[in-house]
Amino acid sequence: MKILVINCGSSSLKFQLIDSESEQVICKGLCERIGIDGSRIVYTPEGKDKITVETPMPDHNKAIELVIEALTNKENGVVSLDEIGAVGHRIVHGGEKFTKSVVIDDEVIKAIEDVSDLAPLHNPANLIGIKACQKAMPGVPMVAVFDTAFHQTMPENAYLYGLHYSYYEKYGIRRYGFHGTSHSYVSKRAAEILGKDINDLKIIVCHLGNGASVSAVKNGKCIDTSMGLTPLEGLIMGTRTGDIDPSVVEFIMKKENLSVAEVNNVLNKKSGVFGLSNELSSDFRDLEEGYLNGNEGAKRAVDTFAYRVVKYIGAYTAAMGGVDAICFTAGVGENSGFTRKIIIDGLGFIGASLNEEANTVRGKEEIISNPDSKVTLMVVPTNEELAIARDTYALCK
Ligand code: AMP
Repeated sequence: MKILVINCGSSSLKFQLIDSESEQVICKGLCERIGIDGSRIVYTPEGKDKITVETPMPDHNKAIELVIEALTNKENGVVSLDEIGAVGHRIVHGGEKFTKSVVIDDEVIKAIEDVSDLAPLHNPANLIGIKACQKAMPGVPMVAVFDTAFHQTMPENAYLYGLHYSYYEKYGIRRYGFHGTSHSYVSKRAAEILGKDINDLKIIVCHLGNGASVSAVKNGKCIDTSMGLTPLEGLIMGTRTGDIDPSVVEFIMKKENLSVAEVNNVLNKKSGVFGLSNELSSDFRDLEEGYLNGNEGAKRAVDTFAYRVVKYIGAYTAAMGGVDAICFTAGVGENSGFTRKIIIDGLGFIGASLNEEANTVRGKEEIISNPDSKVTLMVVPTNEELAIARDTYALCK
């Protein structure tokens, strides 16, 4: 079966067409600037060069039309429309309602709408993507795969904040966690690579990309994760603060005469390694170069980022009563041996020993610890689209 995977943002739409049997990507691409001047679709059919079409895209319905056109056109198309057996949608927030992927019906759409105030920027965009696909492909089954679902196994003591309990009861304010599809995929893959039963393993997954999060996976279940009610909590990220004292918000508002929305923008868009490096860059490639050239801001940003990762690994080792494997994934985790080494240098306390030669690996599966290391260190590239396609196939075959 050919599965179309859709990841819909407010002004963008990423897609992949995946063959469920071979698990090969048949075509992948991106619609950019939906509803904005200068919109375009960029896609790469398997074995061909990248194709870019600049064309007006007033809304997501038009974007989906163009995706289908790209997949089925005579010249560069890879399928006929009736070959697309199912569509898997990445949904950011499933609240407490969704603990696993589900086939989308009217009730599911209503439930996703109901939790939209927990992710006001993301869930409405995800719903627009679902509705546009339903319109363009009537009768084709659709599946919702939630970023939050894998973390729903967290125990109460991990997901509750030290807030008055009534806020949890009234509004569902608690830790939900994100990147769940990635944490699930990587922890399972790590067990497979190690040739061990995941039910016997304590794994820490470090998803270090532009957005970054850590999770503690004990016996195949997530027991804690660093992102919270929203993806702002936890690690220092590309432009997001991660953990800060909540009083900082009021303090900055008063000092700089900012509104709530403006200070939110500071915390989400102007902070993280970008802010720490005095706006040198949010991209670790630039920061690594700056670090090596003696740029103080780059050093400050990367060292502070790495220290936070080390602290979380320490905390999750305590939470699980030990750790068997630590996995590095996503853009930085998969590609930056430089940043991995700075993190791992802080893990001597658990007997982690880095194999520096293996640590030069980029973007492929590799064990990067020495044989005598007390904990196995691994690079495990994530593949959220494949995980979404697998769930979609399992529910629709
Ligand atoms: P992601 O959000 O997972 O796509 O990760 C994006 C981030 O990965 C970029 O902002 C870069 O900081 C980082 N990245 C990608 N490739 C490399 C690389 N070769 N070396 C260091 N960092 C990289």
